[in-house]
Amino acid sequence: MEQTKLQELKIFSAKIRKDILEMLEERGYGHMGGSLSIVELLSVLYGKQMKINPSNPNWEERDMLVLSKGHAGPAWYSTLAEKGYFDKSWLSTLNDGGTRLPSHPDRLKTPGVDMTTGSLGQGTSAAAGIATGFQMKGSNQYVYLIVGDGELNEGQCWEAFQYIAHYQLNHCIVIIDENKRQLDGTTKEIMNPFSIADKMKSFGFYVKTVKGNDEEAIDDAITEVKQIENQAVCIVLDSVKGAGVSYFETLAGNHSVKFNNDEIIKANHEAISQQNKIIEGGTDTCIS
Ligand SMILES: [Mg+2]
Repeated sequence: MEQTKLQELKIFSAKIRKDILEMLEERGYGHMGGSLSIVELLSVLYGKQMKINPSNPNWEERDMLVLSKGHAGPAWYSTLAEKGYFDKSWLSTLNDGGTRLPSHPDRLKTPGVDMTTGSLGQGTSAAAGIATGFQMKGSNQYVYLIVGDGELNEGQCWEAFQYIAHYQLNHCIVIIDENKRQLDGTTKEIMNPFSIADKMKSFGFYVKTVKGNDEEAIDDAITEVKQIENQAVCIVLDSVKGAGVSYFETLAGNHSVKFNNDEIIKANHEAISQQNKIIEGGTDTCIS
């Protein structure tokens, strides 16, 4: 990737991350950990890989995203706002009564949201259906499916994966956000997933594992899996829950954070100023 493009994506990531931090602090609580772990992924998808038209969200030829781990809605809303799907002022209405940005995505409320999600597991079947539609009409469109690692506790995921693999739906790019934690603890403690990559391989997928905070590696992986023919494809995102903010990365219970003490607010403000430095082209571009 050209350095200017990579720098553009890093700045896009910083903007998304900053929006999430500001939005959740303003709300006073929210799904922090799982939103932060997919920031760089969303930056690459909406900044480079996806065929989209923000001024015409329902454009027939668009690529689609199904955020099956719907609790990461704040990350998606930040991305869509930065791309101009709607005004950034909407972000401060997150989860309000009557808002167009509910806690979990709703395709009837938010421009750019292609599928309603949040009931874990169900997005996998929806994406499989969308990909089947693309295949039947001979379209070159892609649907990107983002699934949480904790979400894999839902048996529905594995039914959908088996279907996607059987029908070789390689225009459904399955991306598993392996941030190793879920609501109540680590995935190993709650329900050991063992090797997710090996499981997906055994289901018949072509599997690529990449670091979740590396825009260039994510972009390369997506480009690579798009070349695969006659086989379903999966990217395992080796990510960190709460990524990019060291305080939230190590905070117990970072799934949903409450801004109820000075320490959290101070850490959040430091993280916001770190994003500002990246956005303004400063030297502090190291995201842990
Ligand atoms: Mg997780």
